[in-house]
Amino acid sequence: MFCRNCGKEINDQAEICIHCGTRPLIKRNFCYKCGAETKPNQEICIKCGFISMSSTLYTKEQIPYRTEFSNLSQYYQDEFNKIYSSGDRYRGKWNWWAFSFGALWGLTKGVWLASVIAIIVVVFAGLIVAPLGWIIATIYWFIFGVRGNWMYYNAYAKKKQLPI
Ligand SMILES: [Zn+2]
Ligand SMILES: [Zn+2]
Repeated sequence: MFCRNCGKEINDQAEICIHCGTRPLIKRNFCYKCGAETKPNQEICIKCGFISMSSTLYTKEQIPYRTEFSNLSQYYQDEFNKIYSSGDRYRGKWNWWAFSFGALWGLTKGVWLASVIAIIVVVFAGLIVAPLGWIIATIYWFIFGVRGNWMYYNAYAKKKQLPI
């Protein structure tokens, strides 16, 4: 494929362009199929007719990696673009919705594994000693607040549950 930032040809599986050092699909200056110049709002490459400029990148583990977030709300678009362009170093900001609704929020965002585990652990802890259930619930809900956006990003972009 071609780097969408600098237009040079790179390995199809490259996560970082060896010529310019950015993630290859982060900008929209070039078509990633043929390397032709494109405009940022262009949906189809005029030169090769490639249908969608919205692209799926394959990660090293061959999991489809979504890099287009335009059908999400502005909040998550901004967050996901920030995570993506940071090369996963940025892991999202505190999310009040995720903190308030915890596992329920997780379930609505496709973060099902972490949510199911949280619910099971909280219920079991609550059955043993009620206050313990509340303490563990609070800890879990904090994790959702801190890492909610990161978990959502992994579930959405990489179809990956329980990112570490
Ligand atoms: Zn490049
Ligand atoms: Zn093209």
